[in-house]
Amino acid sequence: MSSLRNIPAIDELLALSAVQSYLEIYKREFIVDLLRQATATLRQELLSLEQEKEKEEISHWILNQVEDLLRSTTSGSLTRVINASGVVLHTNLGRAPLGNRALGYMHTMACRYNNLEFDLDSGERGSRYTHVEELLIRLTGAEAALVVNNNAAAVLLGLTTLAQGREVIVSRGQLIEIGGAFRIPEVMKASGAKLVEVGTTNRTYLADYEAAINETTALLFSAHTSNYKIVGFSAEVELKEMVNLGQAKGIPVMQDLGSGILTDLGDWGLRDEPTVQESIKTGADIITFSGDKLLGGPQAGIIVGHKKYIDSMKKNQLTRALRVDKLTIAALEGTLLEYLCGNPQEGIPVIQMLTMSSDQLLNKAEELRDKLAKKLMGSTQISKMELVQLEDMVGGGAYPSYHIPGYGIQIAFREKALETVARELRLMNPAVLTRRQEDSLLISVRTLLAGESDELVELLTQVLK
Ligand SMILES: *Cc1c(COP(=O)(O)O)cnc(C)c1O
Repeated sequence: MSSLRNIPAIDELLALSAVQSYLEIYKREFIVDLLRQATATLRQELLSLEQEKEKEEISHWILNQVEDLLRSTTSGSLTRVINASGVVLHTNLGRAPLGNRALGYMHTMACRYNNLEFDLDSGERGSRYTHVEELLIRLTGAEAALVVNNNAAAVLLGLTTLAQGREVIVSRGQLIEIGGAFRIPEVMKASGAKLVEVGTTNRTYLADYEAAINETTALLFSAHTSNYKIVGFSAEVELKEMVNLGQAKGIPVMQDLGSGILTDLGDWGLRDEPTVQESIKTGADIITFSGDKLLGGPQAGIIVGHKKYIDSMKKNQLTRALRVDKLTIAALEGTLLEYLCGNPQEGIPVIQMLTMSSDQLLNKAEELRDKLAKKLMGSTQISKMELVQLEDMVGGGAYPSYHIPGYGIQIAFREKALETVARELRLMNPAVLTRRQEDSLLISVRTLLAGESDELVELLTQVLK
């Protein structure tokens, strides 16, 4: 109890040389706040303590506490992560890392003025939606395009604009949930459209759609079941059949493609995912997809399709709330240009990682193994370290049933528990996210970006010290 007397006053603490050095960097009010917070915490602790504490000990404790608070407040919460998981589009790790052209554009537009909403030719007000539209039209073959904040927003905008207060027909096999609480039935409700479910979970036929059509039907909706697959006794109606039915009845077809790839990856074993161009050719009236999944760009929701539908979406008040900023437009423009240049395999990290050859991956794994061996040769901590074949994943809710063959390093430890090593690696800066296989740590090399093999070797060495 009596220790409370020994808590120094804030003014006394402010006079300490350690605190003075903080005051040279940070605002006085901020440091005073931290001192108050530390003092209040300490007061609680002292209340429950039997023996008396000296003033010096108390000051020391407060200073330590302030240092911790300062570190956690100022180091930033968003932390760089080295992705050694082999999951290329990891939604929890920010999905697609951007390519250089996208970065360059972003950098310029971020720190300079630009023509975001200015028509340089006429000298009058322009529209932010014109910037990537031309590129998207050329790349996908659609009549018109619109970019919003993300694909969830794109679906919401499409449904609200075209089907508010009316019916939308969806197969029961496509009432999907994507990570992060995106559920087709919920989005439908939020849009004000009425969901009409047809068919069953595993089988839906064209006749089911046909029977559900009435004068209040606004859309036939198709959701790409991107993150799971029904195998066995199942049937879904092909997009082409839906389009034919829609055209016969005068009802547009909207397709939520999810990932939305622009380049065929069949040569790398990634089949079954329709490209956006194919869906347009098949006749879908409105297609939505993400900017930061297989496209490999920034977070964005891309809508392509018939001009009359896109025009009405542009006029919807909601579009203002879902609009993208200049940085997104710049990054998207930089990304799309790589496709126009026929260069996605080099210019877009996601595509580059997915199209690495077996030889490239093996080389990368051998180099990493050699570096690790050189650095950790004498370590008593490691009981086993070997180059292994493993299975990587596309992630981001695409190609759910595909495991793509890759290479990596498997490491087992002697003294430290595997979970301890994995956690310590996660708490480094940059953080390292690995995989585990039974009792060993797995490092996949596919998702290690430039320079990260060396960093990883350093970080693992520190953890094992
Ligand atoms: C990922 C996905 C979404 C959500 O896209 P975001 O860009 O994350 O908002 C919607 N529908 C499908 C089919 C998806 O795969």
